[in-house]
Amino acid sequence: MGNAVILVAAGKGERAGGDAPKQWRDLAGKSAVDWCLQTFRGHPDIDQIVLVVNSDDFEKTKGFAGINVITGGANRMASVLNGLNALGENPPEKVLIHDVARPGVTPEIIDGVLGALKTSCAAAPALAVSDALWRGKDAKVIDTTDRTGLYRAQTPQGFRYRSILQAHKNFTGDAADDVEVALAAGIDVKIVPGDESNFKITLPADFARAENFLRGPMDIRTGNGFDVHAFEPGNQVTLCGVDIAHDKSLKGHSDADVAMHAVTDALYGALGQGDIGQWFPPSDPQWEGSESDVFLRHACNLMVKEGFHLTHVDCTIICEEPKIGPHSTAMRQKMAGIMGLSADRVSIKATTSESLGFTGRKEGIAAMATATLVKS
Ligand code: MG
Repeated sequence: MGNAVILVAAGKGERAGGDAPKQWRDLAGKSAVDWCLQTFRGHPDIDQIVLVVNSDDFEKTKGFAGINVITGGANRMASVLNGLNALGENPPEKVLIHDVARPGVTPEIIDGVLGALKTSCAAAPALAVSDALWRGKDAKVIDTTDRTGLYRAQTPQGFRYRSILQAHKNFTGDAADDVEVALAAGIDVKIVPGDESNFKITLPADFARAENFLRGPMDIRTGNGFDVHAFEPGNQVTLCGVDIAHDKSLKGHSDADVAMHAVTDALYGALGQGDIGQWFPPSDPQWEGSESDVFLRHACNLMVKEGFHLTHVDCTIICEEPKIGPHSTAMRQKMAGIMGLSADRVSIKATTSESLGFTGRKEGIAAMATATLVKS
């Protein structure tokens, strides 16, 4: 008893182009099959899943746990019947039949179909046609068609298991979908709301559109960082990984690269992952004299682990001296190399504070930075 879904994935999907059948191509990180499995597995009212694949693709399903994988027939009708027959051992009360070429199926659509099946023999999602409709020939309009009462059909289409099994067994010829099979058997089909995200991937251009829906809204993060180090007696400072001869050095536990610290904190900030002091406590002797790229590389690795990539870094160094301009190109290149960015995405600039404050009194150097991260 309960509810089952048959995921029909046996097609060759040749119109969609590409090397692999469309249902197995990467779509925002996983295949259409994986997206559909994720949605139906996650639905609390789905008790059994049958995945119907082409025998050529059976290999790809190794490791798919908790579902029944079977091979399809010569066409969609035969594949669905194979799926229905596979449920015969443990027949459900209701069955949904879904084309995996619609990876944008949502829990709400499934809810709508299952909800309607409580009072109807069959239910399927659809969207009312809103465009004007024409009949055309040789790129010319030869007639117009009234769109009143016309719908664009989607899946999953839901049925009482025993009635759709019988309908499929009795059906001869080919049908565009299972609603057509149901109607031929005299079964009433209720229309429930579909969703534009649940469109069918058919042509090459549909992949980019599907990725937009599946990825969801873009996750863009901006982080800021600020750091200050005081001068102490010495003969060079390290800024953005570049050693610059100077009549003082910067005081700090590590190499005191104030600019690299600000950029590193901007990355941690964008990730909501604290700051350098939390990851590399000054009290820990192992970071004594450490080169600051250790910290920046750590933040970059964390960023990749969290699924983000860096698109831009802007850093401002605030000091009266040393002069930053002659070194800014080397700094950009050094920073870009550490972060795996092209140098044109790294901005290093400098300003004085007009002789005001601690930087104006040449007591130290301050740096501020902004980093922009995008979910990959
Ligand atoms: Mg610092």
